[in-house]
Amino acid sequence: MKTCLIRLIALLVVGTASHAGEKPDPLEKGGVVLTFDDRNFDDWLDAIPLFEKYQAKATFFISGVIDAKAIATALELQSHGHAIGSHSVHHLSAIDYLKNHTAAEFVKEEIEPQLTAFKAAGITPTAFAYPMSKNHPDTDRELLKLFRHLRTGMGIASDRGIVDYDAFFVPVSKIKTAGLLFGKGIDFAPFRDDRTFGKIEAALVRAAENREIITLYAHQIKPIGKGNFISPGALEHILKKTAELNLSFLTVDQLP
Ligand SMILES: [Zn+2]
Repeated sequence: MKTCLIRLIALLVVGTASHAGEKPDPLEKGGVVLTFDDRNFDDWLDAIPLFEKYQAKATFFISGVIDAKAIATALELQSHGHAIGSHSVHHLSAIDYLKNHTAAEFVKEEIEPQLTAFKAAGITPTAFAYPMSKNHPDTDRELLKLFRHLRTGMGIASDRGIVDYDAFFVPVSKIKTAGLLFGKGIDFAPFRDDRTFGKIEAALVRAAENREIITLYAHQIKPIGKGNFISPGALEHILKKTAELNLSFLTVDQLP
């Protein structure tokens, strides 16, 4: 009886430790927050074995109506240790939206319907990714009442390195107070000047050496296609390098 009770307690502790909504422990070493956006459900599910090969965990920010397909995909990804985030209902620029609406309206129209549908399926997103990286201080403030972290993005000059921009790198000791994270796009890597393998690898080395967290984002995962995508080969290159450098693969749910 006593053993059973101890086992039950152990199970409860293990079972809740990685749950969204629970505050994770402080982080020790540097890591990569790998994120994917929109509704590329088939690509993401197909990539599960690739992530597993490197014990990599990622975060998937879903846009649009949280329908049966979205829920089924989210639950499948979660069952493999990945996290689910909100990416808004209509995929609008918050900056443009605020020209005619309030931040409270943005939350009500763009966020709450998603959170309600997620909640009904037992999913509690801890982060939100801004469509087109168009964040605004007013929505930042409102959204940080609902999420621990927000992801936006930032372009870089093609003749500079990712390592030259401190905004992409958050020391592990500061991640708890860094609500807004600046992600670096990796779609089309390594075939754009701002995201060559050399620049991405240098960024990973910096994160490992300085115990920093870097956030990366992409969309589809396929060898070739329309729109924004990263090829499975390029993704594997980044996963492999991250593992070699002994960086953590962190989901947003694992960020304090
Ligand atoms: Zn998007």
